[in-house]
Amino acid sequence: MTQPVPFPPSLWASVTPDRPAAPALEGEIRADMAVVGAGFTGLSTALALAERGHKVVVVEAARAGWGASGRNNGQVIPTMTGAEPDVMAERFGAVGERFAQLVSDSAANLFKLVRRLDLKCEAEQTGWFQPAHSPGRVKLSAARVEAWARRGAPVSLLSADETAALTGSRAWYGGMLNRSGGHINPLAYARALAGAAVAAGVSLYENSPVQSVERTPAGWVVSTAKGRVIADQVMMAANGYTDWFAPGLAPRLAHSLVPVLSWQMATAPQPEAVRAKVLPGRQALSDTHGDLRFFRWDARGRLVSGGALIVPFNGAERLKRLIGARLAGIFPQMGVPTFDFVWNGRIGMTDDRMPRFHRVADGLWAWVACNGRGVALSSALGPVFADAMEGKAEADLPVPLTPVRPYPFHGVAKLVAPTLLAWYRHKDAVEPS
Ligand SMILES: Cc1cc2nc3c(=O)[nH]c(=O)nc-3n(C[C@H](O)[C@H](O)[C@H](O)COP(=O)(O)OP(=O)(O)OC[C@H]3O[C@@H](n4cnc5c(N)ncnc54)[C@H](O)[C@@H]3O)c2cc1C
Repeated sequence: MTQPVPFPPSLWASVTPDRPAAPALEGEIRADMAVVGAGFTGLSTALALAERGHKVVVVEAARAGWGASGRNNGQVIPTMTGAEPDVMAERFGAVGERFAQLVSDSAANLFKLVRRLDLKCEAEQTGWFQPAHSPGRVKLSAARVEAWARRGAPVSLLSADETAALTGSRAWYGGMLNRSGGHINPLAYARALAGAAVAAGVSLYENSPVQSVERTPAGWVVSTAKGRVIADQVMMAANGYTDWFAPGLAPRLAHSLVPVLSWQMATAPQPEAVRAKVLPGRQALSDTHGDLRFFRWDARGRLVSGGALIVPFNGAERLKRLIGARLAGIFPQMGVPTFDFVWNGRIGMTDDRMPRFHRVADGLWAWVACNGRGVALSSALGPVFADAMEGKAEADLPVPLTPVRPYPFHGVAKLVAPTLLAWYRHKDAVEPS
């Protein structure tokens, strides 16, 4: 029997009740659709397909939520990190405009799904705030507010005083508030989605790393060490972990993103007096720094934050000092906090900060590279890929399909990518007013 993969320790893993493990894949199974990977994307795609009456199998290497979906900050954000909505529309025309709309509606739709299926995941639709760290960035916030408002997003531009009132800090100059956003316990959400998918009829297999996906005359064959699924259509939803368990599974796909480690940290529970002054409205917050400042409260009074490092050596201890001092500078009410949890996960990055959506071959679909904003988007992709697998015309989909383009010198790019943090820090320090 395949050895179960240990679940990575994190705040979320320590507070979230586990589900009983699904069986490992053994023998041969026939399905209409197969999905590789049980993160938000794979599970929401499988759920959408099963709700439409298809026979769906999900094959997960470890456990549902083992990848980015169970390790993230849980911020439900209806924007991308770098790709602006007008640029999406300019680059991809009508499809790009539909993609911008998909992103714009993505947070509201996640919370709707949570309410419809009663997914227990500590969901709080308190809004997402992006404060500006320089006067120049306030102009960018204003442009973003204008662009997202044109797409119907519930956004507003906050002044410096309003920002101070919302955050409890004078660290920022203003910013964009989007009231459709908020936060969740991401592992609880992944596990609840898995439960909902199984209840809708999805056959979930865990502890079953897929080794190959091949086209045969009988259909697409998804193979593990002990079993195989034969399906008409396959969705590759292994994203930033595509090469983690089986480097030979889809190397071109795995090399079309550059994986970067993002570190997450949770403080000790904070007293009521601090919680009343720091982000008292409990919004999720990620600011405009390239070296991102991000925070949100969890359900137990911990502030969940994190950061990035150029070199991961002794990362947890170094980050406790770095982020502890940063938090104390931004929120003096808190003093220097102690951290009970530090963990990390892989984010798939691209040079233009756009995710990649692929029809790899007839009946084989994939997406990769959320560029750090995938909680809301990956949930929104479920119905989109379900439509694609049901045969909706590619030109009518709300995602731009592009050919798979691996980065040349991928090994070098992986080494160099973390050093870009030094460049972001430099740019953050010389922001124009
Ligand atoms: C540390 C961190 C913080 C983040 N914070 C935020 C945030 O606050 N807000 C936000 O919007 N986004 C955030 N993101 C991004 C967000 O988490 C991801 O975009 C989202 O979870 C992607 O989901 P996914 O299902 O596509 O991929 P994943 O959740 O990574 O799922 C891929 C799955 O595929 C499985 N798999 C891999 N190989 C195989 C194989 N061979 N066979 C079978 N299964 C396989 C993996 O085990 C995994 O379960 C963060 C990401 C990280 C890493």
